[in-house]
Amino acid sequence: MNYIELNGDCINRLKEKIKIIYNRTPLFFIETYGCQQNEADSEKLMGMAKEIGFDITDDKNEADLILFNTCAVREHAELKALSHTGHIKHLKELNPSLIVGLCGCMVQQEHRKEDIKHKYPYVDFVFGTNMIFKFPQIVEKVLERTKRQFFVESYETNKGDMVEEVPVLRKSTKTAWVSIMYGCNNFCTYCVVPYVRGRERSREMSAVISEVKDLVSKGYKDITLLGQNVNSYGKDLKDTPSFVDLLRALDEIQGDFVLRFMTSHPKDATHELFDFISQSRHMAPHFHLPMQSGSDRILSEMNRHYDRKTFLELCKYAKSVMPEISLTTDVIVGFPGETEEDFVETLSALEEVRFDSVYSFIYSKRKGTKAAEMTEQIDDETKKDRMGRLLELQQKISNENNLKLVNKVLKVIIEGNSKTNENVWAGRTEQGKIIHFPKDSRALLPGQVVDVEVERTESYTIYGKLK
Ligand code: SAH
Ligand code: SF4
Repeated sequence: MNYIELNGDCINRLKEKIKIIYNRTPLFFIETYGCQQNEADSEKLMGMAKEIGFDITDDKNEADLILFNTCAVREHAELKALSHTGHIKHLKELNPSLIVGLCGCMVQQEHRKEDIKHKYPYVDFVFGTNMIFKFPQIVEKVLERTKRQFFVESYETNKGDMVEEVPVLRKSTKTAWVSIMYGCNNFCTYCVVPYVRGRERSREMSAVISEVKDLVSKGYKDITLLGQNVNSYGKDLKDTPSFVDLLRALDEIQGDFVLRFMTSHPKDATHELFDFISQSRHMAPHFHLPMQSGSDRILSEMNRHYDRKTFLELCKYAKSVMPEISLTTDVIVGFPGETEEDFVETLSALEEVRFDSVYSFIYSKRKGTKAAEMTEQIDDETKKDRMGRLLELQQKISNENNLKLVNKVLKVIIEGNSKTNENVWAGRTEQGKIIHFPKDSRALLPGQVVDVEVERTESYTIYGKLK
């Protein structure tokens, strides 16, 4: 289905309505929590808002319509979104015509929708993750409102539309997200994603290819394909193309650009995938492979469908075919029942693989998941202690890995000024690492790709000079 089929006449009608209601160009503000999938959704929501007549603002104090795109993966993200929603009460008192909405994974959960209904009366509307492409229709209903509106349907009744040709307002003119699939079928026992994003749905290969071609022709240099488990791309499509089939087709596209993807599930990451990346023209030498734990017992309790040995062998294979590859991972600390021995196995796996960076998370109990019902929940003090030890070890490993880069010349895409010094550029290497280097007399711009020689490193940042 395409975007116009779904929203049809509503768009033109709404544009007219908005002109009459506001008698000026109203302003839309969006705040995004959580993962890249949410970032990508927010770029679509901004694109749709712009199309129906809003301008985008990054100052919520001047906005006419405020939307919070929420996350539910950990409690911390939910509490942050709720606290920011709480602050809006004050803006609403100053400007009673302000419209405030919430969308995304947090409000897809029934109990959170009820919380908003009862505890946040100044929120005007809420819509779930399977309603995102109906944003124009939702805004139309909200503007006609006589009462608050809740558009949240479970994935059992509404599987979510797969809509093409949605207007997207990308934050960058050089780096872009491209969703290749939505949802997840894996039901890892700690994770809320399958409940709030529904089952896997892949976009047609032709649609992904034409979006990437279009981005390359517009000068995008760094494109990341998104999905909760990109390795199972295509299993639900008619000709069941594989993820490697998709990558192969994208790699044929002419132009000067780098392709990345996230996230891969180790159970579905094949040697064929690593072999392909090693021979490809456009694939970045970076692979994010979430390990979650180094203990077989915990991996099984997590329902991850691989064991420590298979995981370690996979990483070894990746390094054998691509010695320059940067491997990164996710780890959960303090999963229910995790003993000191289990945790030490995680540390030893980190030592064995020597990832460039590790995104580590303290286990967070998620309502409705199997792990939330497990009896042996770990106390906060133990979780924090283990997290501290993990961070310390990983900082040492990241540092040692980065030291090996000194004197090497790396290809770097300029992202912008360094946050602390406007005479210094901040960029990202093809491996995905952040690098800082002083500006010289060259008139460079963000998005340009340059050669930088590494001079010194700290655990997560590298410093160099332009070649
Ligand atoms: N689909 C991706 C990422 C999902 S969420 C994958 O399978 O890798 C991103 C990361 O958040 C996960 O890899 C996991 O490490 C972490 N995470 C998910 N649920 C969590 C929970 N309940 N508590 C702590 N961390 C969690
Ligand atoms: Fe969550 Fe597991 Fe699906 Fe990733 S693969 S989104 S961790 S259920």
